[in-house]
Amino acid sequence: MTFTAPLREELRGVEPYGAPQIDVPVQLNVNENPYGPSEAVVADVAAAVADATRTLNRYPDREFTALREDLAAYLGHGVTPAQVWAANGSNEVMLQILQAFGGPGRTAVSFAPTYSMYPEYARDAMTDWVVGHREEDFSLDVAHAVEVIAKHRPSVVLLPSPNNPTGTALPPATVTAVCAAAAEVDGIVVIDEAYGEFRRAGTPSALEVLAETPNLVVSRTMSKAFALAGARLGYLAASTEITDALRVVRLPYHLSAVTQAVARVALRHADELLARVDDLRAERDRTVSWLRGQGLTVAESDANYVLFGRFADRHAVWQGLLDQGVLIRETGPDGWLRVSVGTPAEMTAFHTALTATLGRGL
Ligand code: PMP
Repeated sequence: MTFTAPLREELRGVEPYGAPQIDVPVQLNVNENPYGPSEAVVADVAAAVADATRTLNRYPDREFTALREDLAAYLGHGVTPAQVWAANGSNEVMLQILQAFGGPGRTAVSFAPTYSMYPEYARDAMTDWVVGHREEDFSLDVAHAVEVIAKHRPSVVLLPSPNNPTGTALPPATVTAVCAAAAEVDGIVVIDEAYGEFRRAGTPSALEVLAETPNLVVSRTMSKAFALAGARLGYLAASTEITDALRVVRLPYHLSAVTQAVARVALRHADELLARVDDLRAERDRTVSWLRGQGLTVAESDANYVLFGRFADRHAVWQGLLDQGVLIRETGPDGWLRVSVGTPAEMTAFHTALTATLGRGL
């Protein structure tokens, strides 16, 4: 019998998304937090998992009530538990948003260069994808954003702040203007603050305007600042009209009892887990200065990564670093590379490897 699986036309020949997972000593390619949990946190997580294990014959709390309460308390800004939603990473949260608010005949919009998963959510939710542009310095021109929204009438606008891979945060006036433009066409705006905790002083969170902006969704993750990428917990704050819609499209019991327990322990230890954020911000600023000191062009960063360039052959530079055991990311506009901020020792290894690579004339 010959058989060809009836794959959707638009998925044929498509490579699965994902950075290369290569086992090298210095991994600075997926914006992880380089600091693992303390033994005290490990012990608490283990105890909570053991506890959850005793009732693993039962399905978990479908509404993850206790976790929503904890996340609302962490977010502050008057956010109530009913305004919180969570799923297995903010990637899943945003796919659910497209499932609920996108769909055939609808459009999602973002502005490039930006996070490369956005078009994939749109594709998977069978939503048309329209991409506007960012300025030379990767900021977003409000007039351009408003024009794209008015023209394409998206039901969903996806805007990371800080942006990945450039590190650019959005000023509050931009968030307000984009939300107003989207409201005109009955669209929602997702401000993806996956890296929100790493912002420099003076760049406020979009949570500040959530209460008075009914079409605003603020998405967060525990993967980065909380150093919990392996646990897979993303979440958002929005109006209850929006969170209730997400309850319709989620799969039943999508957040396992183990995930809920681990996330709650991490939130209990928020002070300790987030304590390294300041160190990482300082290391980020040092990385920006060092790269500029090498005569390179470096994007301003409010995140835990830095985009730098420009190289005639960026792949050769990436490979040169990899050959010395330092894995960074070949992403963003042509000629640029992105390095995640690691420990001081890891950054020293990066400096050494980059100096050697550039010394070869690349
Ligand atoms: N948004 C942005 C901008 C990201 O860079 C990432 C991860 N690379 C995510 C969302 C998703 O992260 P997670 O699913 O781990 O929450």
